[in-house]
Amino acid sequence: MELGWDTTAVHAGREDLAALGVHAIPLDMSTTAPLASVGSGGEAYELMATGGVPAPGQTTVYQRLWNPTVARFESGVSALEGAPEAVSFATGMAALAAVLLAAVADGKPHVVAVRPLYGGSDHVLATGLLGTQVTFVRPGGVRAALRPDTGLVIAETPANPDLRLLDIKALVAEADGVPVVIDNTFATPVLQRPLEIGASLVLHSATKFLGGHGDAMGGVVATDPGWAARLRQIRAITGGLLTPWPAYLLHRGLATLPVRVRAQQENAHKVAAALQSHEAVTRVLYPGLPECDPLGLVGTQMSGPGSLMSFEVDTADQAEAIPAHVSLMTHAVSLGGVDTLIQHPAGLTHRPVAAEAKPHATMLRVSIGLENPEDILADLVQAIEAVC
Ligand SMILES: *Cc1c(COP(=O)(O)O)cnc(C)c1O
Repeated sequence: MELGWDTTAVHAGREDLAALGVHAIPLDMSTTAPLASVGSGGEAYELMATGGVPAPGQTTVYQRLWNPTVARFESGVSALEGAPEAVSFATGMAALAAVLLAAVADGKPHVVAVRPLYGGSDHVLATGLLGTQVTFVRPGGVRAALRPDTGLVIAETPANPDLRLLDIKALVAEADGVPVVIDNTFATPVLQRPLEIGASLVLHSATKFLGGHGDAMGGVVATDPGWAARLRQIRAITGGLLTPWPAYLLHRGLATLPVRVRAQQENAHKVAAALQSHEAVTRVLYPGLPECDPLGLVGTQMSGPGSLMSFEVDTADQAEAIPAHVSLMTHAVSLGGVDTLIQHPAGLTHRPVAAEAKPHATMLRVSIGLENPEDILADLVQAIEAVC
């Protein structure tokens, strides 16, 4: 039976629970596992250190190699992204680092990155710390930037922080066979599934919407078996693994992901529409507004515009002052949780980004939560009016 997508969100990764005689996800905290013999243990070690997964009943040796609680979360994510496999990491940045290391190890260290990107992703690429060489481009500039040693094309849509949308199919065509990585953190698989339209890897900061409650960090990459094995090998060797307790929380978050994303989106729509008519707001950036979606991607590539928005006011001083005046929402970085957060990208999340690509200092980004939209709007408006 082909299950509905919301059903999958509730049940994926829980297939073995009934056989275990439990109903909720079990939390297995073991750092090590009993070995029957040196030979069988060594064989399992070898398998997992080279990117394999243990067979049922085979020893898992050591938590850095494999853990059942973590594997259940991965299996939930792969089902939601329509991917054969998913590999999780300690954070979104650890996931990106593993993807970059895989390209470098394959002798293809050149990365074409479509700006804007999350500030941390821009930073790791700009520093070249992991042995990559980057060419930053704007949408449409990918093909001209490709080199024989280009191993990856990286993009976000909606992008952080200006919510710019990008046509993934067009990007994949431009990439001309080079694997495309889409950071799907803002859209989540509820609204957009890039692997179904040609991307090779989908990356998430699971810290954001997947967990959804602001209390667990993680990263995850959904992809094909070849990439997955390579990423597991890198994880086993370098140790940037997701541990069981956050994996448990993130997996629990998947069950409510569709409901949260749709409800937050509904709130965001109302807040964006109302902000647009406020005289102190010079621009609202939200994919649900027709002028922010010139390619008509909402309703085609994305089933909805999501719950992140940015807006601009007249001066940078005003933008920096507004977050100090909010009372219901929290002035904090991060996004995608059940409560509303506001932050100044140029000063915080995108601080390390080079001047030519830095977001406008007049811009604030808001992650809309599950509060009543009237309350979110009232808080935002009183903070704006306290300053402007
Ligand atoms: C937060 C974020 C990341 C980094 O994830 P961490 O879990 O903080 O390491 C990457 N991409 C996007 C779009 C993000 O918002």
